Amino acid sequence: MKKVVIAHKFRLYPSKQQEVKLLETLDLCRQTYNILLGELNRQKVIDRSQIQGIITDIKVCDPRLKKVYSKTLQYESYRLFSNLKALSQLKKKGKKVGGLRPKGIGWFKTFTYNQSGFKLIETGKRCQTLHLSKIGDIRIRCHRNIKGKIKQVTVKREASGKWFASIIEEILKEKSKSRPIKKVVGIDLGLMDIVYDSEGNMLSNPRNLKKHSERLALLQRKMSKKKKGSYNRNRMRIKLTKQYEKLVNTRNDFLHKLSRYYVNNYDAIGMEDMTITSMVRGHLAKHIFDASWGKLRQYISYKAERAGKLYIPVDYKGTTKRCSQCGREVAKNLSERIHKCPFCGFKAPRDYNSALDVKRLTLEEIEIGQELPKSTLVEMEALPTQLATTVNETRSHILN
Ligand SMILES: [Zn+2]
Repeated sequence: MKKVVIAHKFRLYPSKQQEVKLLETLDLCRQTYNILLGELNRQKVIDRSQIQGIITDIKVCDPRLKKVYSKTLQYESYRLFSNLKALSQLKKKGKKVGGLRPKGIGWFKTFTYNQSGFKLIETGKRCQTLHLSKIGDIRIRCHRNIKGKIKQVTVKREASGKWFASIIEEILKEKSKSRPIKKVVGIDLGLMDIVYDSEGNMLSNPRNLKKHSERLALLQRKMSKKKKGSYNRNRMRIKLTKQYEKLVNTRNDFLHKLSRYYVNNYDAIGMEDMTITSMVRGHLAKHIFDASWGKLRQYISYKAERAGKLYIPVDYKGTTKRCSQCGREVAKNLSERIHKCPFCGFKAPRDYNSALDVKRLTLEEIEIGQELPKSTLVEMEALPTQLATTVNETRSHILN
């Protein structure tokens, strides 16, 4: 048996009084973090145990801290050191980074219960109960059963004021037998909201996503016309935040369907390993689509892992130019939508050629005859009808 951890995100519905406690906990954690950071900055040689030890002292000086579960406060020390580690890794990569800074009021969004201080209680109703030590029994909407052992609970407040719990569950997965890799697909990510694959499919975001993003752009324009600091501007900002969340949720839903489709239908999925972030800059909606590709990669890789399939990032460089059939470079500018190879005569839509090239690179990565671990966790689901029609329609469209 092999241990696997899975993260779930569930909505919390705290009462008014619980919300006061949640906000207070957030702020006390923030203050603790800042005090620990202050001590860290004073030290010439970093002594982690000494920094952690301060928590006991500050609790004596500030009895309010006793309102927070002790391990949740201790977690702030862990957070500080993991931030420090992340920072030094960025430095190693040659990125220009400053030091860690104290967090201002409102800049703390999460606090964590690690290993203990929580309990998920089954109620048999629509909402379950999440017991958090020192806070109480909060209503939680679990859209998935938790059967394994819960390792950690992180409470998060989103900008719209909604609360969520991110629950890390540990499950035991059977060590599995192998089966051969039969179906391989290459995926090419287009700009904005389109995915092309080596089967000749073109998948684009559902229409309501476009609607949401247009509305977002409209709200942004409206807000920019309101006077800074005014009541109306603030009201618009709240509207904007809600719209933003709506868009992100719709997008995530689409990306989940898309990733499930590929993981259910293929044994190995290859994707270009590059970040598009630098290619499209501009307003908020574009920024979200940028982030989409990172998300899609993430969803495909963890769903593939759980289903015992392979996610293979491939080195992208040149796939837009390279001929997928003969491997030679065919120069073309961005406006040329058709790939025509003067060497071997292969002709295809440009993005389809790229997807085929991603597939070729994927096959190179997979050693011939390599076997997949047998899936034990795969939850096979039919392709959502909406997506299925998109596949077939666009497929005939792109191939004709
Ligand atoms: Zn060629």
